[in-house]
Amino acid sequence: MLQVHQFACLDDNYGYLLHDSTSGETTCIDTPDAEAYLREAAAQGWTITQIWNTHWHPDHAGGNEAIKAAKGCRVTAPAAEADKIAGIDRTVAHGDTVALGGFTATVIDVGGHTNGHIAYHLPEASLAFVGDTIFALGCGRMFEGTPPQFWASLSRLKALPADTTLYCAHEYTASNARFALHADPENAALRAYADEVTDKRARGEWTVPTRLDKELAANPFLRADAPDMQARWAKNGGKIGDAVATFAALRAAKDGF
Ligand code: ZN
Ligand code: FE
Repeated sequence: MLQVHQFACLDDNYGYLLHDSTSGETTCIDTPDAEAYLREAAAQGWTITQIWNTHWHPDHAGGNEAIKAAKGCRVTAPAAEADKIAGIDRTVAHGDTVALGGFTATVIDVGGHTNGHIAYHLPEASLAFVGDTIFALGCGRMFEGTPPQFWASLSRLKALPADTTLYCAHEYTASNARFALHADPENAALRAYADEVTDKRARGEWTVPTRLDKELAANPFLRADAPDMQARWAKNGGKIGDAVATFAALRAAKDGF
């Protein structure tokens, strides 16, 4: 059986430990905070055997060396960012697979937030670790990539089964919801989702993970290929029939929102 243990760490990151109870293997999904990961794994009674990095940012790979020093675990990281990530044992790229006991994760190229960003999709468990690519009602900042690249990455995630659980790396949903309502004010699914976010945050609850079908209906960045979004954003850089231009307009608007 595959289990995900989620915990808050740093200011607004989520840490994830993925555990296969049959083999006893446990992988860290990213390493924002080595101490928190070691503590949480010990509390679960799990021994960390692997680290899977999504991208090079310090709040995702900064704990690699300390966790590896403590546990001697095997580190898998994106090939395109190998020069920026410490402790790597194996580099992977789009289409490669990574094993955790009897479970297999497929690596998906989701470059855009950083150029070499990857996601890990576990089809048997209907879940994906998407790092800083998709957030609940948002997407990562485009620090390194280009709009066509980022849109292609989002399109690959959009094509996963709609019931896929998406484990995002940050709790940014309340601020994402404010922009989403500005970007797509007549979307009933979004309004309901945003109300739910307000209630959850008022109770101090997490809004992550989310599910792909929910994001497809309400996340403005995933709707850059929708004719109504393209028409709404046509005055601000979007373009009817052009998902890339509409995505670029949305991303730029969010940066300044
Ligand atoms: Zn990042
Ligand atoms: Fe991050």
